[in-house]
Amino acid sequence: MIKTFADLELDPNLLEAIEEMGFSRPTQVQAEAIPQALEGRDVLASAPTGTGKTAAFVIPALQYLQDFPRKKAGPARVLILTPTRELAMQVADQARALAKNTKLNIFTITGGVQYEEHADILKTTQDIVVATPGRLMEYINAERFDCRAIEWLILDEADRMLDMGFGPTVDRLSGECRWRKQTLLFSATLEGRGVEGFTADLLKDPAEVDAEPSRRERKKISQWYHRADDMEHKLALLKVIITEQAERSIIFLKTRERLAELRAQLESAQIPCSWIQGEMPQDRRNNAIARFRDGTVNVLLATDVAARGIDLPDVSHVINYDMPRTADVYLHRIGRTARAGKKGNAISLVEMHDQPMMDRVARYVKEDIKERFIKELRPKHKKPTFKKKNKKKVEKKSVKKKATKKKK
Ligand code: ADP
Ligand code: MG
Repeated sequence: MIKTFADLELDPNLLEAIEEMGFSRPTQVQAEAIPQALEGRDVLASAPTGTGKTAAFVIPALQYLQDFPRKKAGPARVLILTPTRELAMQVADQARALAKNTKLNIFTITGGVQYEEHADILKTTQDIVVATPGRLMEYINAERFDCRAIEWLILDEADRMLDMGFGPTVDRLSGECRWRKQTLLFSATLEGRGVEGFTADLLKDPAEVDAEPSRRERKKISQWYHRADDMEHKLALLKVIITEQAERSIIFLKTRERLAELRAQLESAQIPCSWIQGEMPQDRRNNAIARFRDGTVNVLLATDVAARGIDLPDVSHVINYDMPRTADVYLHRIGRTARAGKKGNAISLVEMHDQPMMDRVARYVKEDIKERFIKELRPKHKKPTFKKKNKKKVEKKSVKKKATKKKK
């Protein structure tokens, strides 16, 4: 199992650059694709946007170029194709950052640049070229670029390249690079128009990497909490959050009684909301959700029972007005935000007696959920620490870790 970049046995200069970029551990797609590529396999990888696919192909390429250094000056050895000029720049930037401790040359060939600007550089030695297919093909046709030295062909965002009609051009480029040793193909999806046939022609017995992003990568939810002294303080915090910070929020409460109470308080503060709770007639429930969905109101109050199994509209904020009974319920609740790759927020309002639950949740989701403050509404009570309990848990954990280490 690859857990750290050091596990990948990379060159120290590469590890140093990785660390400087602030990458503390490999993402799922990196952990799975890098070892395969370094073993000499073709790779067919798919992983959602934002999960670090660029470094998943740049890192092994850089390692390869150092493992097998060139013996004399000459043309590019690694060719990376991207669908757009902007993406080519981004990929080249990341490659340069990762290669900063090496002497490797990285160059882009894209549309929108005069040949004169490319000409000189094309004569000098290049190690990696990042290119858009159309412009590169023009240079090949004009015999200004030679693919015979290409050892690795890498396709980034293959699905988009196909969508943009680059299929035939990429096929021809693949033919030009027929002396290559390895091909890596990365894509957000492998479904859809013709990707399968396309990949079958390009790759030889590829290692397939279909990286399910880890829980940490899957969703971008910012989580934090506010401490509340009492119910009155809690209500004041909530009002600021829903009127000044959140666009659309779902507020979770633990019982129907608590929901009714908050509903009355919001109504008297003239904050419009709709609400759902268990044992509610279907039409009223639908009506409440419809009002929230169409934006008539931007606040929805809900109990856990009512929210179960309902496909609620996308929200910017999930607010735990009452803490959930278990950490698992917490995860269900916050899953209502950050749908479809959007960013989301989850805020918990924590009274003194909720603090142990908050700590448990943080351990469960494996994140350091930070406390935030709202000016003028700072809590007056001291943050409770549950020393004894915490200590015991920590001890137990470290014992467990040791035990698993020994097994290996
Ligand atoms: P993708 O191509 O899968 O959409 P990118 O390669 O563009 O994703 O990476 C998305 C962001 O994640 C970039 O800002 C990149 O610098 C960062 N990133 C990549 N790998 C890691 C890592 N191991 N740890 C932390 N951040 C990373
Ligand atoms: Mg990408």
